[in-house]
Amino acid sequence: MSVTPEVAPSEDASSAAPASSSAPAFDVEAVRAQFPALQQEVHPGKPLVYLDSAATALKPQVVIDAVTEAYAKDCANVHRAVHALSQRATAKFEGARDSVRRFLNAEKREEIIFVRGCTEGINLVAQSWGRANLGPGDEILLTELEHHSNIVPWQLVAEEKGAKVVVVPMTDAGEITVEAFRAKLSERTKLAAFTHVSNALGTILPVAELTRLAHDAGAKVLVDGAQGVVHQRVDVRALDADFYVFSGHKLYAPSGIGVLYGKEALLEAMPPWQGGGDMIDRVTFEGSSWNDLPYKYEAGTPAIAQAIGLGAAIEWLEGLDWDGMIAHETAVLEHGAARLGELERLTLRGTAPEKASVLGFTLEGIHPTDAGTILDAQGVAIRTGHHCAQPVMDHFGVTATARASLGVYNTNEDIDALVSGLKKVESMFG
Ligand code: PMP
Repeated sequence: MSVTPEVAPSEDASSAAPASSSAPAFDVEAVRAQFPALQQEVHPGKPLVYLDSAATALKPQVVIDAVTEAYAKDCANVHRAVHALSQRATAKFEGARDSVRRFLNAEKREEIIFVRGCTEGINLVAQSWGRANLGPGDEILLTELEHHSNIVPWQLVAEEKGAKVVVVPMTDAGEITVEAFRAKLSERTKLAAFTHVSNALGTILPVAELTRLAHDAGAKVLVDGAQGVVHQRVDVRALDADFYVFSGHKLYAPSGIGVLYGKEALLEAMPPWQGGGDMIDRVTFEGSSWNDLPYKYEAGTPAIAQAIGLGAAIEWLEGLDWDGMIAHETAVLEHGAARLGELERLTLRGTAPEKASVLGFTLEGIHPTDAGTILDAQGVAIRTGHHCAQPVMDHFGVTATARASLGVYNTNEDIDALVSGLKKVESMFG
């Protein structure tokens, strides 16, 4: 398994994120010590083994402190007031936007729109760009691997505009091949929307190549980065996607905050999607005009403390040795795949050679929820269900899988705890 970055950081040293080579070598124990949630027993004598980071990541102390300070000291609304608290809150909120710009290597801060999360970012593009640009017979190209958040918003706009959703099938290993993608592109494709990394299977998609192909066919591209931005360096300029979305809570930041990156010219041309305070320039009863980017898409009081927490998470991540972190996560993932192979009833779901973070599996004759409940009694937290990817479940003819997913803090010992818990599950089912 490889988690080699799909997109190399840009050569532009003046704007690229700080090089991870200057960070101290990756030390997983030092990382673990920064996560208070890991310092607990979930049941008597059962320390937490957290293997559910694809659902949401734990938060390091610096992020918790940043959110606490935002409420304890700098508690004010942003942008509108001249008083000191508001000035401080605004500086930190807008500073977080600068951190996101640097982290993604976007060209301009105007291209960074704060949203509630990945789901809201995709809905924004579907409702704003989609309603303005899609018409009868136009095609929106998705893949079989998508999360429901990257399916349903397109179905809604397709139904309204008479457009059609077209799906690139995956292989039984959970891959989207370039050939399969090319075969579904047509002159009617107006937009291709695909995930960077599958949340159900862990497959890393060849997003740069798919983006190139879609652009060659004249289509715009949206990349769902919910799982991608966490496990590899993303450079939106090198990737060249038109839109890239992610959620803060999977990136060690608070929930309620996420990012839509969009190319400036597109964001300028698109209509606003929600109306209210902050997104306007001038309002009269005869009509209103819109604020400049990025505020045109940020109606109402934003998630201020959450955005500040996201800024803190990004600064914390920038201080890590990313090459070391990726190598560590890859080693733990490989250890996991090897050790899960010891279980007689287990079938791994998602065996693409390019994978990150996720170990999805089923156990013959045992419902995933039963396995998850027995594991929880051992202190091992995994996720069971359809993972908001029912088409993936349908592909395998199952309604649910069990999923162990890794974060920056996981170790081989966590995998070993999972495997001994699963051996207990198998023994309980005879
Ligand atoms: N896409 C993918 C690939 C995801 O994993 C998730 C979260 N599970 C989402 C979209 C939706 O993210 P959120 O619920 O944070 O909006």
